[in-house]
Amino acid sequence: MICLVLTVFANLFPAARGGAHERTFVAVKPDGVQRRLVGEVVRRLERKGFQLVALKLVQAPEELLREHYAELRQRPFFGRLLQYMRSGPVVAMVWQGLDVVRASRALIGATDPADAPPGTIRGDFCVEIGKNVVHGSDSVDSARREIALWFRADELLCWEDSAGHWLYE
Ligand code: ADP
Repeated sequence: MICLVLTVFANLFPAARGGAHERTFVAVKPDGVQRRLVGEVVRRLERKGFQLVALKLVQAPEELLREHYAELRQRPFFGRLLQYMRSGPVVAMVWQGLDVVRASRALIGATDPADAPPGTIRGDFCVEIGKNVVHGSDSVDSARREIALWFRADELLCWEDSAGHWLYE
């Protein structure tokens, strides 16, 4: 109930979002699932200290992907991107924590794996921009939009983070 109130409040007042309750959408793309990298992606976000709020294995419908990547629809690679994202199941997740949008993008690394430093997910596990293993929202507003697109409100679980005391002042 408290979780629902917080979510509604955060959606109504974007400026109130953030802090330890900031959320982001992360997805292991079909190549990441096929290459057994789901655990690796989860491990990196977990060990950083972020809290898992939702997770599911999805064969994403084309309409969902068109909506998810709507900003890129004019780009020449859009068709290939849809084909790639439909080529197998995706693991869709919501993670929560302080500055999680920015920090998870840093853990993921640059869009083109050639520009992603070693130590980042893309820097460590892939070579081509068109097969870059993982997605992470690029802003708090995108995160809100993407979470609402991929998850129903009742799929986002609110659970007491017993490690929170050791992570936050
Ligand atoms: P990011 O995923 O890092 O936020 P973008 O939003 O710019 O990056 O692009 C979304 C996805 O589209 C990328 O992760 C990648 O899978 C794909 N993509 C981007 N640029 C290209 C490209 N030049 N060729 C093929 N695929 C691309």
